[in-house]
Amino acid sequence: MMRIIDTHSHLYGNEFADDLKNVVERARQQQVEKIFLPNINESTVEAMLSLCSRWPGFFYPMLGLHPTDVKDDYPAVLDRMQRRLVGPHPFIAIGEVGLDYYWDRSFYKEQQEALIRQVEWAVSCGLPLMLHTRSAHREMMNLLSPYKEKGITGVFHSFGGSVDEAEDLLSFDGFMLGINGVLTFKKSELSETLRHIPLDRVVVETDAPYLSPVPFRGKRNESSYIYYTLLKLADVYKESIETVAEVTRANALRVFTKVR
Ligand SMILES: [Zn+2]
Repeated sequence: MMRIIDTHSHLYGNEFADDLKNVVERARQQQVEKIFLPNINESTVEAMLSLCSRWPGFFYPMLGLHPTDVKDDYPAVLDRMQRRLVGPHPFIAIGEVGLDYYWDRSFYKEQQEALIRQVEWAVSCGLPLMLHTRSAHREMMNLLSPYKEKGITGVFHSFGGSVDEAEDLLSFDGFMLGINGVLTFKKSELSETLRHIPLDRVVVETDAPYLSPVPFRGKRNESSYIYYTLLKLADVYKESIETVAEVTRANALRVFTKVR
């Protein structure tokens, strides 16, 4: 019996409106024990929280403004979001937040300002960060370096970089690399890179509905497909799938300390 944690899945999205119950059922059948839900923007908070009340102890919410949703109005959006962190709240992490300069650099500065504000939330609330970085490795390192001494923790989600980049990121002691279906892609060099990364710094995720692993590549992703990422991870680390599931679960629980 495995206990798998999917540390990053957007199952509250419209993509799952028609068959969410079946998606949850298939995840449980595939021995997914818990699913962590990163938030995107203000409009996704209520849908995310309703999943968490419908399946308590299975879904866990995060709070944050995704970098591609940072626009001119971001200060007011963050003001409103921040009110949800006052007093007792259900959020297990700040996320997903980060920098994304892949398609659009027009909010270059705003993305950094929004991220700094949300990293400050993580510090003051004692919560881990779910970080998204795309075409922004250097900027991310520069932005986070003042927080190294403040003991920030979290996940660098959807990691797909080089060995050098992995070493930069893992110089932050309390962080894990989030590995998803990209690992199973034929042309991915990630399995080579991972040979230089100890398994105790890795967590698994789906990023559903995106980035389905082979053999579902290009289709809607869901949490049960995390099995294929774990299968490949077991091959990379020359361990059983049970071992990689258990180690990555323990790693996730070391970061997400509110989850029990
Ligand atoms: Zn995501």
